[in-house]
Amino acid sequence: MTSTTRFDVLVIGGGLGGLSTALRLADSGLSVGVLRKRPSAESSSAWAQGGIAAAIDPEDSTAEHAADTHTAGAGLCKTETVDFVVGKAPGAIRWLMDQGVQFTPVDDSRPDDLHLTREGGHSRRRVVHTTDATGDAVISMLAARAEAHAGIRMLDDRIGIDLITTEKLRLPGRRCIGAYALNRNSGQVEAIAARAVVLATGGAAKVYLYTTNPDTSTGDGIAMAWRAGCRVANMEFVQFHPTCLFHPLAKSLLISEAVRGEGGVLRLPDGRRFMPDHDPRAELAPRDIVARAIDAEMKRGGFDCVYLDISHKPAADITRHFPNIHQRLLGFGIDITRDPIPVVPAAHYSCGGIVTDLDAATDLRGLFAVGECTCTGLHGANRLASNSLLECLVFAEAAHKRILRDLAADAAPIPEIPPWDASRVTDPDEQVVVSHNWDELRRFMWDYVGIVRTNKRLARARHRVDLLRGEITEFYSHFRVTNDLIELRNLALIAELTIISAQARHESRGLHCNRDYPQALPDSQVRDTILSPGRIHPSG
Ligand SMILES: Cc1cc2nc3c(=O)[nH]c(=O)nc-3n(C[C@H](O)[C@H](O)[C@H](O)COP(=O)(O)OP(=O)(O)OC[C@H]3O[C@@H](n4cnc5c(N)ncnc54)[C@H](O)[C@@H]3O)c2cc1C
Repeated sequence: MTSTTRFDVLVIGGGLGGLSTALRLADSGLSVGVLRKRPSAESSSAWAQGGIAAAIDPEDSTAEHAADTHTAGAGLCKTETVDFVVGKAPGAIRWLMDQGVQFTPVDDSRPDDLHLTREGGHSRRRVVHTTDATGDAVISMLAARAEAHAGIRMLDDRIGIDLITTEKLRLPGRRCIGAYALNRNSGQVEAIAARAVVLATGGAAKVYLYTTNPDTSTGDGIAMAWRAGCRVANMEFVQFHPTCLFHPLAKSLLISEAVRGEGGVLRLPDGRRFMPDHDPRAELAPRDIVARAIDAEMKRGGFDCVYLDISHKPAADITRHFPNIHQRLLGFGIDITRDPIPVVPAAHYSCGGIVTDLDAATDLRGLFAVGECTCTGLHGANRLASNSLLECLVFAEAAHKRILRDLAADAAPIPEIPPWDASRVTDPDEQVVVSHNWDELRRFMWDYVGIVRTNKRLARARHRVDLLRGEITEFYSHFRVTNDLIELRNLALIAELTIISAQARHESRGLHCNRDYPQALPDSQVRDTILSPGRIHPSG
């Protein structure tokens, strides 16, 4: 690559949000660069198991899909966004099928008659899927198409560091004109110029010690947009999945809720079952209630994990229902037909993110955002299962339409971009600063800003993040950037934004549970937590 590479559009991210936006733009004749720090197979999109929600059953309706989305969102979903997204869901599924994605049909002889599953929070069977590996089926097809597309250039093994704006270059106007990215192989920072930039970098669940997400979910896009002057919203709403494998060699292995659905029970290390003490529905209570109960027991007893036990069921039933989980856990020396599974709740989904409108446009001209890095108003205070892949698809289409319009209306060339200035930095003397701060950050976020919060815990976390941010900023300004340093800098910012947002919400609502404010505020006082870079304290 030359020192400055130019595209009509630079897409940062190779998950569902990024790939579907890039394919639509390139099919319309634009030149597109796709920046991926890791292969697409290592995105949350590729790891998705369940599926994509769409009211395609003749008995179902978009109104019912919208109502379920609002119920899950606990009063904070935007009606305009919900109607927009659920209304476009059937078309989004059709687009994927046109790309060659094969979903599980009711009957193999009629591939267009799709089988629909039902998931928690949906009042009907509404989830389109490819067995229990939907994300893999979708992403492998879209990645292959993008990699072969003449209009798309994959910029692999490169991590976006920061957006380039006219403001930062002291040029007139205020717009985004590209990004700087670290080439992880050469160690060089490259400048990429573009007439429009789309952030599709996924969520930020790696800010917590335990997560179901791949290593890529470090909130890079949210941090880049914030530093470029964009607002972020609702960062306090983090969804935790109740059961992720706890094993030193397993980074993030989700144990499906179906294990509890089929009779699995949760036990303490001494074997005692505890869910009936927390909720009459016991193990079948909703996701957030089970996650809170596990968290409470772990904190009360000082345990590293609890155990999910299905070994009392006949072995043949277990292996028939859960062939994948059975096989994968055998690899860790756990035979679920005999052994309980050590589990912890884990950060799963970031409901908050960059504020975007129905065109996927951010506050900065020329900058768009799609997927989990955004806050569109769809999820409110809690995400309805299988609505997030859908959100990626719908906003990819919206971004595509708007970018075509904007680029047709504005043919002004992108100004020259200066190369990255590394003249004042040296090689880091001690990498341990990065690895230590990384561990400390994720641990205190888990302990103090996790599933159940208190004012005292949040204040402790705020104090620690202030110290860490200072240290990381100092390190960043003196030493050459590395992948880990870029991610740590972003995670520390994400932590700060999450803590400030959590401190600003004086109620418990949806995914945000604060023992000092156990009740939800009256409907008239419900609002988003919106943070602006110039004024970090929230506005409604
Ligand atoms: C285990 C699991 C199961 C799930 N199951 C479902 C489900 O069944 N249904 C559903 O709707 N949702 C599900 N979700 C949520 C859903 O998968 C995600 O919300 C969605 O895939 C996010 O897509 P995305 O394109 O925004 O981000 P991702 O798919 O995470 O992609 C982000 C991309 O950005 C790249 N990237 C990040 N930062 C940078 C950077 N600085 N520079 C360059 N590249 C960068 C990454 O390498 C990656 O390619 C699940 C999530 C997980 C983790």
